[in-house]
Amino acid sequence: MTTDGVSYSDFTGWVDPPADLTASLEGDVRCDVAVVGGGLAGMAAALRLAERGVDVVLLEAGFCGYGSASRNVGQLTGAPAGDPGLVSTMHPGRFRDLVRFAEGAVHFTEELLGQLPGDCDYEPTGNVGAAVSAGQLRKARRNAEILRRAGADVVFGSGRDLALPAGFLGGFLERAGGLLNPGKFALALRRAVLAAGARVFERTAVRAVEPQGRGAGVVVLGAAGGRVRAGRVLITTNAYARELAIAPKRLATPVWVSVIETEPVPPERLAATGWTSRSGIVTQHNLMQSYRPTAHGTIVSGVRRLRTAPRGGPHARTPDPATVADLARGFHDRFPTLRDIAVQRAWGGWIAMTPSWLPVAGEAARNVFYAIGCNGHGLAQAPYLGTLLADRLAGNALHDDLTAVWRERPRFAPSPVFNAAALGTAWWIDRLSDRLAGRRSDRSHDRLSGSRSDRSHDRLSGSRSDRIHPPAG
Ligand SMILES: Cc1cc2nc3c(=O)[nH]c(=O)nc-3n(C[C@H](O)[C@H](O)[C@H](O)COP(=O)(O)OP(=O)(O)OC[C@H]3O[C@@H](n4cnc5c(N)ncnc54)[C@H](O)[C@@H]3O)c2cc1C
Repeated sequence: MTTDGVSYSDFTGWVDPPADLTASLEGDVRCDVAVVGGGLAGMAAALRLAERGVDVVLLEAGFCGYGSASRNVGQLTGAPAGDPGLVSTMHPGRFRDLVRFAEGAVHFTEELLGQLPGDCDYEPTGNVGAAVSAGQLRKARRNAEILRRAGADVVFGSGRDLALPAGFLGGFLERAGGLLNPGKFALALRRAVLAAGARVFERTAVRAVEPQGRGAGVVVLGAAGGRVRAGRVLITTNAYARELAIAPKRLATPVWVSVIETEPVPPERLAATGWTSRSGIVTQHNLMQSYRPTAHGTIVSGVRRLRTAPRGGPHARTPDPATVADLARGFHDRFPTLRDIAVQRAWGGWIAMTPSWLPVAGEAARNVFYAIGCNGHGLAQAPYLGTLLADRLAGNALHDDLTAVWRERPRFAPSPVFNAAALGTAWWIDRLSDRLAGRRSDRSHDRLSGSRSDRSHDRLSGSRSDRIHPPAG
């Protein structure tokens, strides 16, 4: 569908769906481990199990990589999800472990990328929690300190130090991670799973998961065309988790995230914005806006406005044009020299937000395990979590990083944040703060009668001792 020159996809803008879908499940099948959901967590788990010689079956409602796996923005981030100040206050005893888990996930995924067939356009640029106002800069400085104290490899700097575009005052650089093409990554992972010998049934939506018998027992999975009898089951259905009755109640709320992609930006014009680091950028708003350059010369940007799922649960959809226009406005405000660069594509996907903001894994019922909720940071964390769970199911002791997110009892509190009213209010507060910051910067611009004066820039971004050398770009 094309509206106002923007091509809307109900899949992703990164890649086309695979042409070689596997057969759907027909009849009865037995296996040691059944994995439900072929996203990053499910595919990584199936790959690890197959490589370890475990008889594994992977069941996927659409095709492997159909979900957020291939729709995301492609920022491989090394920090826990959520605002570090808030998350460290909510989980003071676990924050250091969560930081270790998040960075471990990036290093694991970088290694995985090196083993997959094909190039996923990975650039180890790091990602910046960036500020667009003096208030956001103070918040970024605080967050840098909180993350650093918890052991994260982060550094605070001005926009110039971090080689950010001129519209960004500075922020904290998470040095671990960078940018990749998530569509290529998901399809490369899919090819690796198929090559490793896992039995994969695509176009197979699991409708029921029922443990049977005492002791070791079996778990029976029902789908339209047949049944699977498995020794153990791993549920990795992410935003769709609560559609299965066996999943813990209130495990996660599905939230719709929209993404835009610009037409190609000539390299010299991109460099002229000051963005020579090519680091991924995430603003410090309540609902952030992310920006990243791609290997094919465009800029991809996402979030700013979030939507909740309708009563029937998450469904296939495209972003609404009002959200696309809002994201485009945000992009042009931050990149005023690229105001003539048009948006060419839009798509989106469902993410799973947990009430605690933490990824979680555990045992929902006897021999039925789950891993979920990387809260918008799953590009590295989901495959890592899937692999850690696979090792656990293959007989390993609980890895320290799995302990960090393990839930002994699958009970979850209701989330007061992820509802339409709260998300709408967050958007209004963000726009109001943008307007106030704009007025303040106009006033200081008039006073100083220069464009982004070096003096005011240095004053905003802190003392010289904060400076770092940006990655070569
Ligand atoms: C627009 C967007 C931007 C994002 N940007 C980033 C980013 O830049 N960086 C980052 O770290 N993270 C980002 N994320 C989050 C990240 O993509 C996810 O956290 C991650 O992909 C989750 O992986 P997953 O395997 O848990 O789930 P998914 O990849 O969503 O996989 C779940 C799979 O389960 C299948 N399924 C569901 N129900 C059933 C069923 N009953 N039976 C069989 N199969 C079923 C689905 O079809 C789907 O393929 C973004 C997400 C979105 C949507």
